[in-house]
Amino acid sequence: MAEFISVRGFHDIFGEELDKFNAVRRAVRRILELHNFEEVILPVVEYAEVFQRSIGEATDIVQKEMFVFPDKKGRLLALRPEGTAGVVRAFIQHRLFALKPYTKLFYEGPMFRYERPQAGRYRQFHQIGAEVFGISDPLADAEVINISYKILKELNIDCSVEINSIGCRVCRPNYRKALVEYLNRIAGALCQDCIDRKDRNPLRVLDCKVPTCKEAVKEAPKTLNFLCQDCEKHHKELLDYLESLGIPYVENPNLVRGLDYYTKTVFEIVSQELGITVIAGGRYDYLVEEMGGVPTPAVGFAVGVERLSMLLKELPKKPPLYIVIPIGNTIGYALKVCELLRERGKRVELSYKRSSVKKQLELANKLKADYAVIVGEDEMKEESISIKNLHTGEQKKYSLKGLLSEV
Ligand code: ATP
Ligand code: MG
Repeated sequence: MAEFISVRGFHDIFGEELDKFNAVRRAVRRILELHNFEEVILPVVEYAEVFQRSIGEATDIVQKEMFVFPDKKGRLLALRPEGTAGVVRAFIQHRLFALKPYTKLFYEGPMFRYERPQAGRYRQFHQIGAEVFGISDPLADAEVINISYKILKELNIDCSVEINSIGCRVCRPNYRKALVEYLNRIAGALCQDCIDRKDRNPLRVLDCKVPTCKEAVKEAPKTLNFLCQDCEKHHKELLDYLESLGIPYVENPNLVRGLDYYTKTVFEIVSQELGITVIAGGRYDYLVEEMGGVPTPAVGFAVGVERLSMLLKELPKKPPLYIVIPIGNTIGYALKVCELLRERGKRVELSYKRSSVKKQLELANKLKADYAVIVGEDEMKEESISIKNLHTGEQKKYSLKGLLSEV
């Protein structure tokens, strides 16, 4: 029989990779909780339209990357390629806007995109994202960027914050016009995808990954030069807040993001070491309205968990491991010792192998234990245990009573 392997682009995560993955998750969740964001667990499947409407028809995600399939009644469903659309759908559906003057939510889980798999790019990957609904003040943008920056600091990853403003309904049309004029002039230098999208969705061209297109748009008009008063004020205030928070940033005039729903602020946190984006986000003041809700300004970000894990240098420390080794007829006592140690908060494993002390100590080393707890018949009689430090070789006997205070 042929062996089964996982589907291309879909990964098992285990061992040291999972330790890093979980260290990232813990750090992100901790910071979000300190900022008083509340979690929402969302379905992995939505009606395809939820994403088509929000992310935009003329984006790579919707055009090429979505896993779309009909259900048995022929309704078109999609595996979620990102989290924001689902949060917005839930925000409107459950009328969350009616509960509080503003709402701060976060989510976590797998996302699915039909992309060409490569290092740091999978078809199932994981994001943790956060959204602030109901605040148009750039203080909310600053909080979201602050959290993103702190995540990288906490994980000891060198990064830079790249930021731009892409304007609003008032000023974007002027910019768009100038951009299209420019793109028409340099059309000869663009890839076929960009030629196709330059009239429908010209901002996407600035986001194209093809090197010749990247080069060709270097001299393109800059969104920052076209901002209306309101957008300009918003952007300036945001930069002031970032300065107050001591967050270094660089303005990247070609940063537009690959999704259509953004307005005003867009930002990315880029790893210095690999030059890849690990966190991305921005403001999306019209999305709630466009999806049928009451107009509600919003801003958010998403963390790529695998990408951050890749950048973690050190493995997170685990608490020391104790392996309890029963010698002779002491299993019942050993079981009790295990429980006592666990009650003291120790990470404990009972050796399942029954053999000599020597063999069992070898086993303890293979299991990467830090301490061997030797439980022989003498120890059982005395209600004691012998603990051997497997790094130094030092061994000491403890009475069970003393143990409760000493270990
Ligand atoms: P990229 O430019 O790398 O394609 P993106 O702009 O499509 O990224 P977003 O939709 O903004 O990415 O998602 C936010 C974050 O999610 C990215 O910065 C990245 O860390 C992560 N991410 C996106 N796509 C993938 C993927 N296919 N595999 C792993 N992580 C991903
Ligand atoms: Mg992408």
